[in-house]
Amino acid sequence: MNTDRIRGMYDILPDEIGWWRLAEQAMIDTARRFNYREIRFPIVEYTELFARGMGEATDVVGKEMYTFTDRKERSLSLRPEGTASVVRAYLNQGWHTQAPFQKLFYIGPMFRYEKPQKGRCRQFHQFGIEALGSLDPSLDAEVISFAWSMMDQLGIGGLWLRLNSIGCSEDRERFRAVLHAHFSRSIAHMCADCNRRLDENPMRILDCKEPQCQPFIDTAPGSADHLCPECALHFAHVRSLLDLLGLGYEIDSRLVRGIDYYTRTVFELMSKDLGSQDTLLGGGRYDGLVETFGGPSIPGLGFAGGFERLVIILQERANAKLTETSLDLFLATLGEAGRRYAFSLAQRLRRDGFSVDIDHRNRALRKQLTLANALHARHLLVIGDDEARAARGKIKQMDSGEELEISLEADTIADVLRKGG
Ligand SMILES: [Zn+2]
Ligand SMILES: [Zn+2]
Repeated sequence: MNTDRIRGMYDILPDEIGWWRLAEQAMIDTARRFNYREIRFPIVEYTELFARGMGEATDVVGKEMYTFTDRKERSLSLRPEGTASVVRAYLNQGWHTQAPFQKLFYIGPMFRYEKPQKGRCRQFHQFGIEALGSLDPSLDAEVISFAWSMMDQLGIGGLWLRLNSIGCSEDRERFRAVLHAHFSRSIAHMCADCNRRLDENPMRILDCKEPQCQPFIDTAPGSADHLCPECALHFAHVRSLLDLLGLGYEIDSRLVRGIDYYTRTVFELMSKDLGSQDTLLGGGRYDGLVETFGGPSIPGLGFAGGFERLVIILQERANAKLTETSLDLFLATLGEAGRRYAFSLAQRLRRDGFSVDIDHRNRALRKQLTLANALHARHLLVIGDDEARAARGKIKQMDSGEELEISLEADTIADVLRKGG
């Protein structure tokens, strides 16, 4: 039996969970403050959903999806991202007719067959939000400020934004032609992927990381200079609202993000505090996506980021180890009557909300006391047959070493645990 992990997929172990909870809680708290509601969608969808949504020619759809045929010969894929599923659920619920304005968030695993490296896994965990039903620039600024607030809550400083607008579909068409003309002159010196992208979608060339392509990308025209008046005004409004909120940004005219559904505002949130300038999350508008899926013309936008990277940052930045959850009470036992008494007492106290544990391996008292220490138990109670018979015993406050003789009724013990801090 092979017990290896699948490459690029990891167990998140109990010792690490505290960091994950911290990051997840920041998402949940921020969503509450901004009034975004949680949605949970299936891990598996029809492959077509991602192919139509993200674009057949994107790397994600073309090379990175986990796609398989089910028992009825339908092509299904593990979700590589959340936006397509959220929009699918939105249409599936009929929200486009009944409640078109929706602010939603999600957290959960996504799957991409990428080259695994630090902070990048094949099963990775995303947090994201989607806001559908308004073109108003205030929604763009809110989505960005949501992201910013979440990172603030986690104590991640030095935040700055890479911001751009790629315009409406007409602007994109025009910009693609401009880029095609620009790259056509130098395409012979560029990588094989870029040669393919030139005719598929020259905007994707801007995402290329190959060193040989950088000089031509650096001199490429910017999308923000090719916007129609309406999109230019929208972009100006977004920027003025970010100024109003005091959120620092840098216009990066080559930021286009490699997925087909993006329109108008696109952004990435970075932190200067991190050694390398790491992207914390990215997102943008997708004003045509609902229509692509057969719905009416309803605009939307959102962002997504990876928990793996956040957890690495939180761990690297932490001076102290994350406080371990301690146990309210450990019940050590001697003899069969003592064990039965403790077993029932533990159940009562757990029902009252206390964390209580007992030894399940019937070991010597000394080993049980070692375990109580390892578990950081705040209180210890040793129950032997005598204690069980008399229903009296000594409860020990582990920090102070203080012992108190009490009646072994659940209510009495509960009082001591509550006072014991
Ligand atoms: Zn436009
Ligand atoms: Zn290239």
